[in-house]
Amino acid sequence: MAAEARPLVLATRSKGKLRELHGILDEFGLAGIDVQGRGIPWSDEEDLIERFDTFEANALAKARYFHERSGGLPTLADDSGICVVALGGAPGVWSKRYSGRDDLSGQRLDDANNAKLLQELDGAADWSASYSCAAAFVDNQTEVVTMGETHGTILREPRGDGGFGYDPYFLSRELHRTFGEASIEDKAVISHRGRAFRALFAALRGYGRSL
Ligand code: IMP
Repeated sequence: MAAEARPLVLATRSKGKLRELHGILDEFGLAGIDVQGRGIPWSDEEDLIERFDTFEANALAKARYFHERSGGLPTLADDSGICVVALGGAPGVWSKRYSGRDDLSGQRLDDANNAKLLQELDGAADWSASYSCAAAFVDNQTEVVTMGETHGTILREPRGDGGFGYDPYFLSRELHRTFGEASIEDKAVISHRGRAFRALFAALRGYGRSL
């Protein structure tokens, strides 16, 4: 009899990311459990995990941290952000805290970040941008990290109320809609996150690893 697959820990507390990650795992017939579901209590240490200046290093740091605290379960992590050409690639790895508002979370933090982005872009000629995502896998034997990207343009006015973060302002070059207007399934086909995790699962298969 085949051994029952162990759950994959999803190393994030972001509701927006979790919704998308569960959908992407579904495509592969995989099940994930988030850190809250695994009973890992919030710790102030979590604020210090993402201290590196690359998406890859931050994703690996998150996966290692929650792998250890989950009792050694295989763990997936995502580090992602938006990179704007006219801002020299900013906010990039600093996307979550771009507004500098440590006192906000959820929709209010997203609103503050979007307001800061529009303010910084005011007067710029080129509003093109891309989202990047590093997807990391860590278990007792393997560490793998892969990247995904998707391109578009920042709009002056939001469109749609789907997605999270910068999505209502991000007009996808491939969908011709904002990520705020796209369904979660349509976004996943071409998103930085969908691409990064599909590349991750392909790499794991290449190493002969089944999840
Ligand atoms: P982190 O990966 O926890 O550092 O946070 C990534 C931040 O980048 C989020 O809080 C959002 O502000 C932004 N971000 C990353 N991916 C997306 C996305 O798919 N849609 C909208 N915003 C995103």
